[in-house]
Amino acid sequence: MKKYRVGILGATGTVGQRFLQLLEGHPQFEVTALAASDRSAGKTYGEACAWKLNGSIPESARGIVVQPIEPPLDCDLVFSSLPSSVARETEEAFARAGYPVISNSSSYRMDEDVPLLIAEINPDHLDLIPVQQQKRGFGKGFIVTNPNCAVVSFAPPLAAIHRRFGVESAVVTTMQAVSGAGYPGVASMDIVDNVMPYIAGEEPKVETEAQKIIGTFADGAIEKADFAVSAQCFRVNVLDGHTCAVRVNLKQKSTLEDVVRSMKEFPSLGLHSSPKNFIEVTDEPSRPQPRIDRDNGNGMAITVGRVFPDTVFDYRFVALSHNTVRGAAGSAILNAELLIDRRII
Ligand code: NAP
Repeated sequence: MKKYRVGILGATGTVGQRFLQLLEGHPQFEVTALAASDRSAGKTYGEACAWKLNGSIPESARGIVVQPIEPPLDCDLVFSSLPSSVARETEEAFARAGYPVISNSSSYRMDEDVPLLIAEINPDHLDLIPVQQQKRGFGKGFIVTNPNCAVVSFAPPLAAIHRRFGVESAVVTTMQAVSGAGYPGVASMDIVDNVMPYIAGEEPKVETEAQKIIGTFADGAIEKADFAVSAQCFRVNVLDGHTCAVRVNLKQKSTLEDVVRSMKEFPSLGLHSSPKNFIEVTDEPSRPQPRIDRDNGNGMAITVGRVFPDTVFDYRFVALSHNTVRGAAGSAILNAELLIDRRII
């Protein structure tokens, strides 16, 4: 199997570390370039990175000298986990220099010519790539993006329901882990023994991204799904794993059994990083829980529980996913596997 050489922008951060952990021993990718801020550039990765994940820095990365976030880098494609403040300019520079850019940042997610991918839901949105290349004058480079890490938890069950019955509207309350804010993130004095009812910039993302992902691609553009989402976003005292409580109204009435079946039967892709079951539905009354369920499917499954008829809406459920795996690095790697599978890279 051909091995693609990959670079990671923002390699020293929370998501960057997860990329390195997930890419260790990957059959299709070999990490050959790492880039981060001026604080890190010029040092070896071992010197620059304060490793926060279980285990230690992968030996293959320890001696790589961290580069500034500028092309060229010695790689065939780049994964980006840069803060949005620098991602827009940098990701464009890499795409213009001919690199496929697979990004976690919010900078391009809602641009109409940029795919916002959950690989199992909207792989056909990859057909936007030639539109983007032509519109922006990119040569063979391009940008594809992953959704916000809370959206990754609830968009899959919503997509499953929408395909079968149509979603009229949804109300989402997120309970988001501290690792979602990067490192060092929220001060311990603010989050221990506490719940923060505000995450800067989060609610507009949670209210708009799912409609683009679940939208349909036709005539070179995406028509967004026409349901409304209302969101309240909370930071909670959990290390990893975003939980979303969802209430949904359907366009077409359905039984509880059919709603559950639509989720369970949503197909996985069979790529290297795909979970066996894309959406795992549990009827255990006290699940999903982040500590117990975030690693389901190697962190790539969406776990849904507490699916019931609601007293105000049609149905309610709770959805959970691992925010730095399925919500960030793992999804980006799955997107790269999809791009290879579709012979786009
Ligand atoms: P983080 O832990 O703060 O890491 C940020 C990374 O970007 C570090 O490698 C840092 O390098 C680098 N960086 C910061 N400022 C820079 C600058 N001015 N120029 C060049 N490099 C710079 O953040 P994170 O949680 O990994 O998040 C990264 C991106 O992924 C963000 O856009 C975030 O919204 C998105 N995201 C995060 C999650 C999550 O669960 N954490 C999930 C989905 C998406 P130094 O170490 O050298 O400072």
